[in-house]
Amino acid sequence: METNTETTGASRLKMAAIILTLMALTAVSGWGIYAVPTPVVDRMLEADLRKEATQLGKQVTSHLNDVEATFQTGSIGIHDQEFLELLPATSDIYRFKLFNADGGVFWSTRSADVGTVNSKPYFQSVIRQGNIYYKHEEKPLTEVDDYEGTAIHASGPETRHVAEIYTPIIRDGEFLGAIEFYSDITDVRNLFIDRVRLSLFILSAVALLAFSIVTLVVYRSNRRQMRSLRGRAVKERQLMDEQLRLAREVRLLGELNEWLQSSQSLDELFDMVSRFMTHILPEAEGSVYVYSNSRDVLDGCASWNGAEHKAHIHPEGCWGLRRGRTYEFGASEIDFVCEHAEPHDGRPYFCFPILAHGETVGLLHLRALEGRKDCFHSSKKLAQLCAEQISMAIANVRMRDQLHDQSVRDPLTGLFNRRHMTETLRKSINRSQQTGAPLSLIAVDVDHFKKFNDTHGHDAGDMVLRAVGSALEQGCDRDEVACRIGGEEFMLILPDNRPEEAVTRAEHLRQTVEAVTVRYGEKALPRITISVGVAHYPAHGAMPQDLMRAADDALYAAKDKGRNQVQMAGDAQNAPEALRPVKTALGKAKP
Ligand code: GH3
Ligand code: MG
Ligand code: MG
Repeated sequence: METNTETTGASRLKMAAIILTLMALTAVSGWGIYAVPTPVVDRMLEADLRKEATQLGKQVTSHLNDVEATFQTGSIGIHDQEFLELLPATSDIYRFKLFNADGGVFWSTRSADVGTVNSKPYFQSVIRQGNIYYKHEEKPLTEVDDYEGTAIHASGPETRHVAEIYTPIIRDGEFLGAIEFYSDITDVRNLFIDRVRLSLFILSAVALLAFSIVTLVVYRSNRRQMRSLRGRAVKERQLMDEQLRLAREVRLLGELNEWLQSSQSLDELFDMVSRFMTHILPEAEGSVYVYSNSRDVLDGCASWNGAEHKAHIHPEGCWGLRRGRTYEFGASEIDFVCEHAEPHDGRPYFCFPILAHGETVGLLHLRALEGRKDCFHSSKKLAQLCAEQISMAIANVRMRDQLHDQSVRDPLTGLFNRRHMTETLRKSINRSQQTGAPLSLIAVDVDHFKKFNDTHGHDAGDMVLRAVGSALEQGCDRDEVACRIGGEEFMLILPDNRPEEAVTRAEHLRQTVEAVTVRYGEKALPRITISVGVAHYPAHGAMPQDLMRAADDALYAAKDKGRNQVQMAGDAQNAPEALRPVKTALGKAKP
């Protein structure tokens, strides 16, 4: 827009310059038409008159009876007299004089001139040297013979242009005298000037017209060329912009991919997605939904650019998820709004199902920002690529999570395994060391489980172990960790729990397990009980193994005291040596 205005301004300026040039040329040629003809015509007339004077000179000398005698003596015969008097009537001249060698007038059409002497320097320096002398003067009317005595009109010209030409008379190299002719050249001069002016005017007009046409043609062709050049420049700029945009998108996609691949968790991944999508697709607001574990709803995980995701959405409420492919609202004449896009204000949107290993795991929902609808549609391909990147990243994180889970979880109960427990316990001890926060550890062992297994079978035993695991896990708060460390033995790490609190929690767990009923097939299995040992950091050990051993010792003290009870480690330490059980590596007590 700005460029167009600039261009129009520049072409207007050029047009004004051309018009000014044409006006200047017109003024110059006007001045030329007025000023140039006069000197040119005068020169032409002079050349003509000089020739004419030479002819007249020859005519006079050839008609005179005796030229030499006439000029030397100044005597003119009757025939010569007649001839000389007739001469003005037969030519353009209105007066002429005959001079002797000394410049004295011995004959003139005006008798008053006879006897006068021309003592002007040119007579000696020019005429006497054998050259024609030409003089052009503007004389008053009274001086011109034809006008003598004519009444002078106030409006008419008061002067006449008169040419005076002296022709030398030379015989055998001797200067005999000269003839002076007077010719009134006013009319012929004016006629000539008018003609030359007219010619110049026509020439100038033609030249100006030709110049204007050429200028116009050049100007228009230049303008056409400029327009085509400008069009090409605009196209090249657009191409360049497009390439820069593509390069930027590729770079951002590469960066997105790199960051997403390095994300450790889904939370971190969605945080990165939010940040990148704001840059990659600034014309769209968006949100990501991921299937919950139950797969009946999708949970809102992230949103950006002013969008707000819903806590949960139903897969059947999204046309993208229902049809298993990208859904573009606003591209067809008839569209249906997805349930999750309500309330809807008519802005176009995309729903990209997110696939991981062939399975739909979520939804990327993008909606055009107000006033950005045009570029939103053109960003579909890029958005699709982003959705694919996000899909791959989610698949990666999920797989990593699964592998990690498999490495830290016990497959039967879903609780953490012994390895993870030892690791977590070491971290918890470090934390308590630094912050001084209390830390308790609870060891749990199912009572008479061998017998239970023997009586009801291994599968029933597994079910009981799962039930116990579930009860223990549900008994844990946020930072607390329940683990199955082997067989029918469990441990719980309870950060921020003082010994008394831990004993209370242990007692509560014992009661919970005691209350658990497990159905196996048609029948309900007999209730089971647990023995529990409680140890506290740092009172019962500063190292993970020491603390675990202390909790174990307490657990076996509980077994010794009749099972289905809780024992604190300190109590176990104080127990008589005879009562303290000897343990195997698996923690199995030997009497
Ligand atoms: P105590 O009250 O002294 O703890 O007696 P107990 O029978 O529970 O102790 P013991 O250590 O002798 O028995 C543990 C039994 O747990 C042995 C084994 O059959 C059973 N067991 C270990 N792991 C599993 C398992 O994964 N599934 C099932 N069903 N049983 C298991
Ligand atoms: Mg047992
Ligand atoms: Mg045991």
